[in-house]
Parts: sequence; structure tokens; C-alpha cells
Amino acid sequence: MTAAGLGERREEEGVAASTRSTSQRRPWALLVLAWSLLPACGSQASDPQPRQVDLALTDVALVDLDAGVVFPSRTVLVDAGRIVVVGPAGEVAAFAASTTIAGEGAYLLPGLWDMHVHDSDDAVVLAAHLAAGVTGVRDLGGPGSATVVARDKVAAGQWRGPRIVAAGPHLDGRPDVMGDGSRIQINDEAQARLAVADLARMGVDLIKVHDVMTPEVHRAVAAAAAEFGLPVDGHAPRGVPIAQVTEFQRTIEHATTLGEQALGRDALESAATFERDLEAYLAADGRGAALIAALVASGTAYCSTLVAGEGLARASAPNTTVWDDPRLAAAPEGTAARWREWLPVELLPANFHAERVAVERAARRIVGAMHERGVLLLAGTDAGAPHVYWGSALHEELDLLVEAGLEPVEALRCATVNPARVLGLEDESGAIAPGYRADLLLVEGNPLDDLDALQHIRAVIARGAVVVDRTEPR
Ligand SMILES: [Zn+2]
Ligand SMILES: [Zn+2]
Repeated sequence: MTAAGLGERREEEGVAASTRSTSQRRPWALLVLAWSLLPACGSQASDPQPRQVDLALTDVALVDLDAGVVFPSRTVLVDAGRIVVVGPAGEVAAFAASTTIAGEGAYLLPGLWDMHVHDSDDAVVLAAHLAAGVTGVRDLGGPGSATVVARDKVAAGQWRGPRIVAAGPHLDGRPDVMGDGSRIQINDEAQARLAVADLARMGVDLIKVHDVMTPEVHRAVAAAAAEFGLPVDGHAPRGVPIAQVTEFQRTIEHATTLGEQALGRDALESAATFERDLEAYLAADGRGAALIAALVASGTAYCSTLVAGEGLARASAPNTTVWDDPRLAAAPEGTAARWREWLPVELLPANFHAERVAVERAARRIVGAMHERGVLLLAGTDAGAPHVYWGSALHEELDLLVEAGLEPVEALRCATVNPARVLGLEDESGAIAPGYRADLLLVEGNPLDDLDALQHIRAVIARGAVVVDRTEPR
């Protein structure tokens, strides 16, 4: 996965960047200088017939997240939804673009993936993703075939939205309490096989498992999914040994789920016990270390959803301000009522908030340890869960990943390069290079220096279409 048109300088610059985290905070200025001293080597516009393209982004600073470097003054041409040319501005052959976005002073990075969302059948939700630069989502549970239908409508250009990878309803041993068909109850192996076959017929991209499942049922789900060529993603179901989870699942969701499974309910119920146990858990001979090693060995990815836990912690705080969040007014109708129902704060035990804060601190610590030890991490939010807003929550998640110990570039990889790899889309997503889908995000400021740049979006391009444009009218 390489950004093309970068020549043999790329390797050298990659090396320069790899020393960044320890010694230099800002090598970019040096790289810019180094580049500008190079003699121009391409030939200028020798083709008399300018190439006609849909979209041109001129003079952008191109962020290569894989290498962790920025290439100044690039021109990116897009046609028919794909990137067709990437090169130094001034060396790209003559072109004529239907739309041109002036990128001077701005940074272009691959569009972001939120790897754990819900409600992808809602137009308001889809628009919110795009507004935040989220051009791809993995929807891990919705009613009936709704998210699969939405996926196909977006893919066909009938709806505007991020690319959707859809699980359809999730599988669990409990009844569909929501009553909306977002869960299929399976209690034995025969039911597991039937449910997977139904979902395969529906056209889902993956099978999502939830919390309650015996090892036998879990195994039956995995076997049936394999028959249909479908990956299994989801929670680490309680009662299924982690070795089996990592053997059969492509991903595990939610820091808290994993912490619970590893630490047990007792530790969860007391903040003090949880934190004390956490150190033992992560120690070389601890169960956490073994679990993390299993994740690394199996290549099972871990999807953080730290912001979802933060939502519970913030909502349960005394004098919480979550209900004043300006995003609530723009959320789909009924959101506030739904969240109040899901998290009835007045019914929570008195120590809920304090425990929650401790659990979330522990979750960040576990994620940090996973990162250090080489687990493939995915940025996901559980958008749609209480106080987790579609689109903008991904920015919060990335900030939490930095808090957990990741560098900004590493956090951004969790929303670009790593999702592409896990989803088998590494040839078309997660980089800015010819042949890749034109899912792009143009921001003010270098996001490798500070993720606050994501708060200053100049433009978003999804499937080659400019869906957000805050460029100055010229
Ligand atoms: Zn979940
Ligand atoms: Zn979820």
C-alpha cells in the first residue's frame, strides 16, 4: 500500500519519520524543505490534450498514514469515484477538472472509518458521518434487512452516505428485547445454523455475535459463517473461552466487554478491586497478557469503542451536561427518549458513576497495553449508544486512543489503514493513491501534529463526490 507518484524519496522519508516519536516532534518542516531542494524531475505537461477528470484537489499536503509522513504540494485527480493521479503539483500532466478544490495550506488524508456504528438506515445519521469525514462505517446491528438495504442504496448512488459494511441483526442467546428485529435469538446449534443461513441470504457482510452464547453455539455460528464465506465479528461472548473467540472471530468489540471477561463481575463492581486487579492482569504472567498475546497471535483485531463507555460515565455524573449537548438537537427524532430509556440514570445504583469512571480508565489502559504489544486496533464508537453521536464521536474516540498512549498517526491508522486491512479492502481504502476509492478528508492543520485538525474540515469527498465543501468561494 503505497502512495504513488512519490518516487524513491519515499523510503528515505519513511525512515526519517520513524524516528519521530522518540526524538522529533515536528520533522515535517524539514521534510518540506528537503523536498523543495530536489530538482524537478517530471516533465511538464507534454500531453497537448488535457486529461478530463471529475475532480481535482490542487496543492494539498498529502498525509500518508501508512508511512506516517506528509508530502507537500500534491495534486490529486479523481474520476469516476476513484483516485486516478497523485503527483507533485506542477509535475502532473495537464488536466481539466469539472470541480477543483484549492487545497493550499490544507492536509488531505484518507476518509475515516468508524468500525462500530448503528442506525445506518437513517439519512440524518448518514449525513452526520459524512460531515465528520467518516466515509466508511461497519454497522454492527440493525433491524432486519434495513442496514443491508441502506448499504446497497448508498453503493448504487441512490442515497448519500458513507460506505456501509453491514451485519444486519446480531446473534445472541437472549430474546429481541428491542422488539425491532435487531437481534436473532439462538439457543442451540441448529438455530445458529438457521440464523446464519438466513443472514447470508439477506446479503450481510459479516455475522455479529453478542454477549450470551455457549461455546457450542459459538462454534456452530463460526462453522456456518465459514460455509458462507462470512467473517464473525462482535463481542467476546461470556462463557466462550478467549482462545475460541480469537480462533473464530475477526474482531472483538468493546474494551469493557473484554475487561469484564478477563476480570470477572466482582472486580467490575468495585472500582478499587478493578484497578488493583488491572495491574496483575496486565503483568507478564497475568491473564490479560495471555489474552493480548492470543489476539496478536491470531491476528484478531480489537475495536476500542472507548467513547461509548465515556458516554455512560458522563451521563451518570452528578450534574451531567450531556442533555445540553448541541448535537442532540440535530440527532434523529426520538434519540433523547431512546437514550433516557436505555440508561435510566435515576434507577442506577449510587456507585455506578464512580465505578464507570474507573472502568473506563482501566479500558484505556488495556487498549494502551494492547497497542504496545502489537494488537491490531480499530477505531469504533458504538454510535447510537447513549450520548455517542454518529460522526463526531469518532473524533472523540481518536482523542481517547491518544489518551490511551497512541501517537496521532497511530490513532488515525485505527480509522483508516487498519480497517482497510481487516475488511480486506487494502487495495482501495486507507491510502491516497491511484486506483483507490476517492474517500477523502481535507483539514486545516497537520493531523499528525494534533488531531484537533479534524475539528477544522475544509472538504469531504465520498466516492468521488464532494459532500462537504467549506472552501472559500473563488
Ligand atoms: Zn456491540
Ligand atoms: Zn454496538
